Amino acid sequence: MKIGILAVQGAFIEHETKLARLGAECIELRQKSDLEIKFDGLVLPGGESTVQGKLLRELDMFETLKGEIEGGMPVLATCAGLILLAEKLSNDSHVYFGTLPVTVKRNAYGRQLGSFRTVQDMEGIGTVPMTFIRAPYIEDTENGVKVLSCVDGKAVAVKYGSQLGLSFHPELDEDDRIHKLFLEECSLYSA
Ligand code: GLN
Repeated sequence: MKIGILAVQGAFIEHETKLARLGAECIELRQKSDLEIKFDGLVLPGGESTVQGKLLRELDMFETLKGEIEGGMPVLATCAGLILLAEKLSNDSHVYFGTLPVTVKRNAYGRQLGSFRTVQDMEGIGTVPMTFIRAPYIEDTENGVKVLSCVDGKAVAVKYGSQLGLSFHPELDEDDRIHKLFLEECSLYSA
């Protein structure tokens, strides 16, 4: 199983370490030529969505990746990655891939509460640890989007087709179940 991990900025190493431990081969996607290698799933890591969005355009990687996502490639998007997928941002005029029909609020927990940890149930997995870092939450979802988990009444994990969007950072916790679930989805896609 080959997983492409967007590696232009942000917390991609932690995803890579976890996925490699689970037996996946990881390809760091840093430039357009990296997209020529065939991979079975895509990770959009946390970081700074504005910087990532700008670099994706400048490096001419944007259209190819958008095409893969629209074509059904499984995506695991965490935090800034969720912002890149969102069809709409409630407090920002940017739209990046826009493939996930949800409205996302950036830096939704404010500066004081910007970073925190909690545990919460996630549908299909059970109770998982959740680390939030200047995180967004999902304010609104359209038809076909499944809310998998809420924290304080706000959606923090959603699934739409093969796109899994998370407000938090599962790559920063010991728990492997979300990445395992993602790899299962990728193996179905590659079969
Ligand atoms: N606050 C960042 C943004 O708006 C996301 C933070 C993160 O990915 N940890 O892009």
